[in-house]
Amino acid sequence: MAAGSAIQIPSRLPLLLTHESVLLPGSTMRTSVDSPRNMQLVRSRLLKGTSLRSTIIGVIPNTSDPTSDCDDLPNLHRIGTAALAVQVVGSNWPKPHYTLLVTGLCRFQVLQLLKEKPYPVAEVQQLDRLEQFTNGHKSEEELGELSEQFYKYAVQLVELLDMSVPAVAKLRRLLDNLPREALPDILTSIIRTTNQEKLQILDAVRLEERFKMTIPLLVRQIEGLKLLQKTRKSKQDDDKRIVAIRPNRRISHGSMTEDEEEEEDYDDVVMLEKKIRTSSMSEQALKVCLKEIKRLKKMPQSMPEYALTRNYLELMVELPWNKSTKDRLEIRAARIVLDNDHYAMEKLKKRVLEYLAVRQLKNNLKGPILCFVGPPGVGKTSVGRSIAKTLGREFHRIALGGVCDQSDIRGHRRTYVGSMPGRIINGLKTVGVNNPVFLLDEVDKLAKSLQGDPAAALLEVLDPEQNHSFTDHYLNVAFDLSQVLFIATANTTATIPPALLDRMEVIQVPGYTQEEKLEIAHRHLIPKQLELHGLTPQQIQIPQVTTLGIITRYTREAGVRALDRKLGAICRAVAVKVAEGQHKEAKPDRAEVGEGEDCKEHITEDVKPESISDAADLALPPEMPILIDFHALKDILGPPMYDMEVSGRLSQPGVAIGLAWTPLGGEIMFVEASRMDGEGQLTLTGQLGDVMKESAHLAISWLRSNAKRYQLTNASGSFDLLDNTDIHLHFPAGAVTKDGPSAGVTIVTCLASLFSGRLVCSDVAMTGEITLRGLVLPVGGIKDKVLAAHRAGLKRIIIPQRNEKDLEEIAAHVRQELSFVLAGCLEEVLNAAFDGGFAAQARHEHLNSKL
Ligand code: ADP
Repeated sequence: MAAGSAIQIPSRLPLLLTHESVLLPGSTMRTSVDSPRNMQLVRSRLLKGTSLRSTIIGVIPNTSDPTSDCDDLPNLHRIGTAALAVQVVGSNWPKPHYTLLVTGLCRFQVLQLLKEKPYPVAEVQQLDRLEQFTNGHKSEEELGELSEQFYKYAVQLVELLDMSVPAVAKLRRLLDNLPREALPDILTSIIRTTNQEKLQILDAVRLEERFKMTIPLLVRQIEGLKLLQKTRKSKQDDDKRIVAIRPNRRISHGSMTEDEEEEEDYDDVVMLEKKIRTSSMSEQALKVCLKEIKRLKKMPQSMPEYALTRNYLELMVELPWNKSTKDRLEIRAARIVLDNDHYAMEKLKKRVLEYLAVRQLKNNLKGPILCFVGPPGVGKTSVGRSIAKTLGREFHRIALGGVCDQSDIRGHRRTYVGSMPGRIINGLKTVGVNNPVFLLDEVDKLAKSLQGDPAAALLEVLDPEQNHSFTDHYLNVAFDLSQVLFIATANTTATIPPALLDRMEVIQVPGYTQEEKLEIAHRHLIPKQLELHGLTPQQIQIPQVTTLGIITRYTREAGVRALDRKLGAICRAVAVKVAEGQHKEAKPDRAEVGEGEDCKEHITEDVKPESISDAADLALPPEMPILIDFHALKDILGPPMYDMEVSGRLSQPGVAIGLAWTPLGGEIMFVEASRMDGEGQLTLTGQLGDVMKESAHLAISWLRSNAKRYQLTNASGSFDLLDNTDIHLHFPAGAVTKDGPSAGVTIVTCLASLFSGRLVCSDVAMTGEITLRGLVLPVGGIKDKVLAAHRAGLKRIIIPQRNEKDLEEIAAHVRQELSFVLAGCLEEVLNAAFDGGFAAQARHEHLNSKL
């Protein structure tokens, strides 16, 4: 642009309609070209022309919706800015899209629209004198004080910024060099203003008016910057640029909707402050909150910290600092609740009552944390819930399975993006009282990771000496957890970190016997499922034999969860029949009961009510109650999943039944062995741990050294068992990792059977560790193992002699149905495992020598 000459803009201008922003003279704007009209303008006027710089277009702020731009031309704003198109960037592929850089020159007024399509062209009248912008012509006299005042504010604003930033220094120089008349437009486009405000400035054609309107905006920005600097002293570098802040509410009194919103927000902050003052939080917390609310009041809402601080304060107000439920502990009532909710589990219930009784007498909760350890589905969680019920406390379950980040327990620091409190504080917020029962579920499944050890964080939570001042990283103030009653559950103690285990009192919850399961099903599970499915005992009848059938043939578990699910499936199927039947007229005649092959001997001979399978004929509504017999069971649940496979698998030498313990309860385990020609190698399969492999080697060594005594020979009749012979031992299920010494006796028995060619009794199961000299050492998990053997229908169980004491824990009726052999050495094991004993020919000599 040539300086000094009064430049005239053309009287006809193509018009660019902008949607998101308002271009003011003296400023530059990048605008995205996406509407068809603007696209046409760019294509035909800017891209085809020879020189871009010569292209002057009219930019009309058009705040209407861009989509309405398609058909009729919207009502155009009267005043626009003539602009130089400086740059067009973009591409035609995959979709034409351009970005246009324009510099505002001067205001113009649309006199007449000459054409609308393909892009609008209008006859315009120039409003500002262009030379104002180009020469250093001063006109202070015309504007007098107003311009001086504006200049001062502008200087003040720039001085609030960091002069070391080149852009700021340049701005400072510009303030002196530019004609004063140009300043209102330029500064308005720099500082934070709404489009509405910019539009007002654009419409202020008279210079004086423009100055008057811009000064409050400038003052507002200055105030905002000052506040920002005060509140964020520590983050000074953020202020080094012109920070876009929202107008300060104390200065803007406009009637814009944004202001109204802010007014509302401000009211909220006042309310929040009131809540903080009236809440019963600790003194320390109150102090922190008041400090934060003070900061919040001064903080522009657009700052990310605003929302963070607000969330923090809202959480602080919501936390139950002093709110608690009243304990109504009465031991007799507690006993009734526990007995009503749970069948069996006598030991657990006894210990829980003791615990509660001590709490009642001592009136405080200091003491070990209870930790229920047992297989899934044995009612650990549900006992926790009952404890909360007896105490009249809120109950909250915190699942810890797979938690590997200590911030999960303790929260994230508030400096962290997306920070939040830990599960303990979150739980307290959810229950709304400070003395709930917290069930820490699956503490054995905590994991360690790079993000720290959650178990270590739990230590502080669970330690009664420390937890009165538990500090969550997010809260950053202490919260008293001493009133919370913590109960933990786990499947095994093996994976609980020792320090954590040390703070807890472990109560073992073993699996159930079949009889217990039967009772639990009929007393608790079936009524619960009926209610859940909207059924009544008049509509469905599940006899005990059917339940027993489900327990033995459709589930194999220590707890009752799968049983519960199967009962649920039956109820669903019956619900369909009942619902269908309700639409049919009841008919007096009844279909006959079908007699499937798989109806077992248990089925009651004269089945009166109709079986569900017969009710399949929709023409006949089912007769109530629908009886669930084996026939119906097969229809609903499919063929039985588990069979008593025991006898079939022991039909050849080289198989023995061992007993294993897993976190899911006891299991029976078939150990198989075979031999073949080879070079004396032992192959072990079934994902065995080192201890188990060693047991296998021990067993082979013991058998080799005793081969003569027991007349054990290899295929060629030699007492050297491994001579020209390979042995393969396999432990199903092959996909499950196994370890531990307790399979020792089973391996010996299995190999003794292989080399002697005799069958192991099919109803014998065994467990026990062995030594090289043939002693049998005690092992763990006897109760679970015995229950598993009982479930599988085995009759004789060989256990180490020193495990005799563990038998006391087993219910009397289970003990009666089983015969136990207490073995101190392998000789006794072998004698018990084979029909007619396992005496050897050479035994006499040996015994004699021993005597
Ligand atoms: P866990 O926490 O040990 O995995 P749950 O407490 O979730 O098991 O129990 C599973 C289901 O079995 C629950 O519905 C519970 O009511 C039921 N249940 C388990 N044991 C008993 C019992 N002894 N008496 C009554 N219901 C029981």
